[in-house]
Amino acid sequence: MTEKQIESLVSKWQPRLGLSEWKIEYHFEEPEDPDETARADCIGDYQVVKLYFNPVMLTGDSDFIGECSPEENEITIIHELLHVAISPMRTVRFHSAPKKKKVYDIWHKAHSSAEEACVDKLARSLFREWK
Ligand SMILES: [Zn+2]
Repeated sequence: MTEKQIESLVSKWQPRLGLSEWKIEYHFEEPEDPDETARADCIGDYQVVKLYFNPVMLTGDSDFIGECSPEENEITIIHELLHVAISPMRTVRFHSAPKKKKVYDIWHKAHSSAEEACVDKLARSLFREWK
């Protein structure tokens, strides 16, 4: 899969998920966490999102933990865009975060894994029903 194909899939799903107003910046680079396939960093006040894609998505390296088939790449793209769609919830959540570090760490881990599970389930359902 090429960078252009990934950008084209983002363009396909962006309006479907009600994100047409968002400006998207693409970054194809090695992530700090080598197991990370992609990441969305939202600047919500400006409706700008930086989408980071691990270059393994381009090579389709089947040894990679995330498996980068075209189908999985599309699900990854939907997954990242769903993070953008629900980013206002994350903003509210962080404004009400616990102050004590130990409590915060547990709270953050619980919220993050719940968000990942929901986003992943929705991404797979949307892909299955609407690809
Ligand atoms: Zn995620």
